[in-house]
Amino acid sequence: MTMAHSWTQINLDSLAWNHRLITSRISPKAQLLAVVKANAYGHGMIPVARHLFELGVRWFGVANVQEGRHLREVLPQASILVLGCILTDDVPVLFEHDLVPTVSSLDFAAELNARAERRNMRKAVHLKVDTGMGRLGISTGSLEEFLSQISFFDHIRVEGLMSHFSSSAEDDLAISPAPSRLYENTVRRAEAAGLPLQWVHLANSSGIFRLPQSHYNLVRCGLFLYGLYPEAGYRFNFGLKPVLEWKAKVGHVKEFQAGQTISYGRTHAVTRATRIAVIPVGYADGYNRRLSNRGRVLIRGEFAPVVGRVTMDHIMVDVGHIAGVCGGDEAVLIGRQGQPVIRAEDMAQWLETISYEVVCAIGPRVERRVVPIGVARLDRE
Ligand SMILES: *Cc1c(COP(=O)(O)O)cnc(C)c1O
Repeated sequence: MTMAHSWTQINLDSLAWNHRLITSRISPKAQLLAVVKANAYGHGMIPVARHLFELGVRWFGVANVQEGRHLREVLPQASILVLGCILTDDVPVLFEHDLVPTVSSLDFAAELNARAERRNMRKAVHLKVDTGMGRLGISTGSLEEFLSQISFFDHIRVEGLMSHFSSSAEDDLAISPAPSRLYENTVRRAEAAGLPLQWVHLANSSGIFRLPQSHYNLVRCGLFLYGLYPEAGYRFNFGLKPVLEWKAKVGHVKEFQAGQTISYGRTHAVTRATRIAVIPVGYADGYNRRLSNRGRVLIRGEFAPVVGRVTMDHIMVDVGHIAGVCGGDEAVLIGRQGQPVIRAEDMAQWLETISYEVVCAIGPRVERRVVPIGVARLDRE
């Protein structure tokens, strides 16, 4: 057996905690759709989705048919909505694996209709309207035209209508109610056109907490299930627990004299005699190169700064101020060690990005370890 150089720990207790917290906040009429695209935001789609299914979640959101097919293998009973673009070539996969597509164009609807007709069935779809996101979705201006055309497609059953916020996390509270009202209007127009909508949905994580009127009867939640806020200092903190920790083993530690330089480009020169720990994680694992001379890790419960450039497979950290650091010590890249903690939101701030990108970037070389329910709790007591 070999040792993992770097691994994430996925804590199912925290996932269950977040799920409970979120479901206690959503309208009693609404169900939760768990968004598990992008390998469950880097957490590992299969263990996360399986556990959420055990907790009673029946709707799951993926980005594309490849993710949908993969999820279908382990959750034969779940409803799986494909949120992103679907290429015409991938349409057969929707039928083979019973995936629900998001429809934003008549061409795509026509393709689905033709396929469904050949199979002598009606394909359930969710229509998406664009209420200001400017990405996928039917423009609200061409909605009536769209609805009258789609009514000719006998092999399509429109069971859902959805839209997506462009600014749910932004501080400007004035932005979100506008799409919400526009959407309300869209729902009425669709119903007036005779569509019996079974599912009406708009809210993502931030929308769930900030705009209760956006819950309708389904909410699509990703980030908050993972216990993350969009960025450091997000002003609605309501006790979510981060599900993911990212750790690595110290490779080796060596003595440096004043003036010696570290890593490519010699961007860091030590100013005093110190010790430097080499940690086998690099940008190939998703430890962003912009953390060069900027990131921090935890070793023996203390912060140690990343010195010099992040390389493909290694980073170097200054541990001159921490007694006794040696090869094999655990280094925490994201997570807690004693009291000090590094949150994904902190790393996002160092990188001038959002927590979503930080966790999604954790690469396939990083082993995913799942901490089963109950174990972490015992650990801490
Ligand atoms: C990714 C995604 C979500 C989830 O958003 P969070 O902010 O992570 O909750 C919801 N809806 C759509 C259409 C998405 O693509």
